[in-house]
Amino acid sequence: MMELLKQLQKNSFFLFFLIFFFASDNSLAKIFSNNLELNGSFTQGGLLFGKTNSKNKVIFKDKNIFVNDNGDFILAIGRDNELENSIIIQGIEKKEIHKIKISKRKYKIQRIDGLPKNKVTPNEQEMKRIKKESKKIKNSKNMFLNETLYKSGFIWPVKGIITGKYGNQRILNGKPRRPHYGLDIAAKSGTKIVSPSDAKVTLIMEDSFFNGKMIILNHGLGMNSIYSHLKKINVKEGDKIKKGDLIAEVGSTGRSTGPHLDWRINIYSVAIDPELLLLNQPDF
Ligand SMILES: [Zn+2]
Repeated sequence: MMELLKQLQKNSFFLFFLIFFFASDNSLAKIFSNNLELNGSFTQGGLLFGKTNSKNKVIFKDKNIFVNDNGDFILAIGRDNELENSIIIQGIEKKEIHKIKISKRKYKIQRIDGLPKNKVTPNEQEMKRIKKESKKIKNSKNMFLNETLYKSGFIWPVKGIITGKYGNQRILNGKPRRPHYGLDIAAKSGTKIVSPSDAKVTLIMEDSFFNGKMIILNHGLGMNSIYSHLKKINVKEGDKIKKGDLIAEVGSTGRSTGPHLDWRINIYSVAIDPELLLLNQPDF
């Protein structure tokens, strides 16, 4: 009997160790050197939270990445990102080049039929309106805010059934269209939507062609999030909001076949996968 107990104890310790190891594996920061630590999802559609000396310059994909006074910065790994990237850390005296490996994702093909014809193939006048609206949206996405509001962490903005995943290739009414960069969460019309993280409201649109009623939130250092097809909006441009604050209600405005929230997270204009962020966020 004692022998059995001992054996069990040993095994459960091992099991505990294994569970601990696997559970913590994804959220562990990868330390490349004294000058570079990255935390997040090293996969297509992932987001990497970086730390360096605030005096260092960070160059990723030939672009200078903003580093704040704490040494924080964010890197977006796009839907079709290369499977290896270099990160250059340029210090006052020395330069380091680090390679990061990115794992490949598989995306599904999603067919949606029954959309109004003009929402798939807009006419000339509608195209003009779409161009105007996308400029506004782009400007809002590119708005820079030197704050790290995202460090409050992320929760689901609404609970529901996921009907569209990030990255899906889309065929609308039989016509191939751009991949879907949002996460579609179906819920009853009027279901409350909360802010998933601390944020500043940077754009409200009451009637955009594709997105209907929509909100853009800024979480700092280039991170923004978009909420589309809303029934009702409960915030104003310029509002500072906290994680969990009510922002809107689920609806079906714009190009939509039923009540759902289309939720997107971008670093400037590069869309990342909100689901990955929720699953694999660091302890800020
Ligand atoms: Zn969507």
